[in-house]
Amino acid sequence: MDLKTATKTHSRVVVLGLATYPSLVSSLISTYARCHQPQIGLRVFSKVLDLFSRNLVIDCLMKGGQCDVAKKVFGKMPVRDVVTWNTMLGGYVKNSRFLDALNLFRRMLSSKVEPDGFTFASVVTACARLGALCNAEWVHGLMVEKRVQLNYILSAALIDMYAKCGRIDVSRQVFEEVVRDHVSVWNAMITGLAIHGLVMDVTLLFSRMEVEGVLPDSVTFIGILTACSHCGLVEEGRKYFDMMQNRFMIEPELEHYGTMVDLLGRAGLMEEAYALIKVMPMDPDVVIWRALLSACRIHRKKELGEVAIANISRLESGDFVLLSNMYCSLKNWDGAERVRQRMKMGGIRKKRGRSWIELGDSIHTFNAANHSHEEMKSIYLVLEGLVQRAKLEGFTPLTDLVLMDVSEEEKEENLAFHSEKLALAYGVLKSSPGTKIRISKNLRICLDCHNWIKIVSKILNREIIVRDRIRFHQFEGGVCSCRDYW
Ligand code: ZN
Ligand code: ZN
Repeated sequence: MDLKTATKTHSRVVVLGLATYPSLVSSLISTYARCHQPQIGLRVFSKVLDLFSRNLVIDCLMKGGQCDVAKKVFGKMPVRDVVTWNTMLGGYVKNSRFLDALNLFRRMLSSKVEPDGFTFASVVTACARLGALCNAEWVHGLMVEKRVQLNYILSAALIDMYAKCGRIDVSRQVFEEVVRDHVSVWNAMITGLAIHGLVMDVTLLFSRMEVEGVLPDSVTFIGILTACSHCGLVEEGRKYFDMMQNRFMIEPELEHYGTMVDLLGRAGLMEEAYALIKVMPMDPDVVIWRALLSACRIHRKKELGEVAIANISRLESGDFVLLSNMYCSLKNWDGAERVRQRMKMGGIRKKRGRSWIELGDSIHTFNAANHSHEEMKSIYLVLEGLVQRAKLEGFTPLTDLVLMDVSEEEKEENLAFHSEKLALAYGVLKSSPGTKIRISKNLRICLDCHNWIKIVSKILNREIIVRDRIRFHQFEGGVCSCRDYW
């Protein structure tokens, strides 16, 4: 339905009484949401009377990404049932508004409506994505208290939640306790072990799957291949890639090829990676070419890098960051400068990094550009103290353009600190000496921050855990669990 038809239908339906046409209301609202006309959507809403239609309105708005409008509608509702709350919670999670989901869940608990399995599925996912351990434990406790029946979706969500919150041990416990006849439960455990870099445990678990008679699916193999890739296990990776096709008759999808290209490329086997790209039955996407390009950049493989660049610019005109990195690492400064100019003209910037730390049950978010935190002064004092002590320990900040530019993150001139450093300083400020500090970050941690946190873990004699976009880093005594391979 286009906007014009929607407006016409709308006026006709209003005359006839909206509430009697729920399906029409739904398609009207979704049209308005899609056409970014939430105000009209709201007007429709005000005419709708029954709860069912109102829930539908919220659902449509959430699906159209209009969280704030949905929130308004929700706020004006005189009556709300469990579906209303669940639609809001699920909508927040789908739109990556995890903190909003948690806050709403707290409100729900003080309302008269009892949460159900769907409620908890959303809330558990929110905790997982935030990596918020205290909240996670609290939510799990509530589930036990309310005797929520665990189906395979909730079991998998719980395993995933603890893994993403850094407690792989609790993930394992949950895994051992739940019914494991569905492959999703195994996949959650395998993926969890993979992001912790525990590749041996992944292979052991895979053998156990066979013993317990559960067939792996394509997601299982993405987890296994990712684990191999994180640890640079080329032989193992090849073995599983072969096994999925020849023994389990699972056709590799784009993502499997992508992980294999990544695995081979990181290990310096670019030619083999390229050969694999050439025999793929489907067209390689940008992600695959990027994986090849980034391998070529690390291993300084110019010709193949150019092939990847050509394909990336064919598929997506905007992959400037990698392009400029590629030129930098080949010391082609003219090329790099040209890309920079094009980025500037096109208004393209690197992504903005964000880190968050959970202290007690509250979550504090930091980004390099936002200095609005009320305790910023003290945070900077702690941070500068740590920087000085790190320098005394022999830490040298990476100023080399080549190395700096490998980062996914923007380094703005007058902002010396990436967000994870701010979060770490806040953690040091607010927690007692000797306790673990856990930080989550939306992008891949850069080499400079990685080096610095290693030293800080030694200086403070504390365990520091950083979950970045790729995996977990457990810093202790000056070394990281990823052994600098990430
Ligand atoms: Zn950094
Ligand atoms: Zn690391």
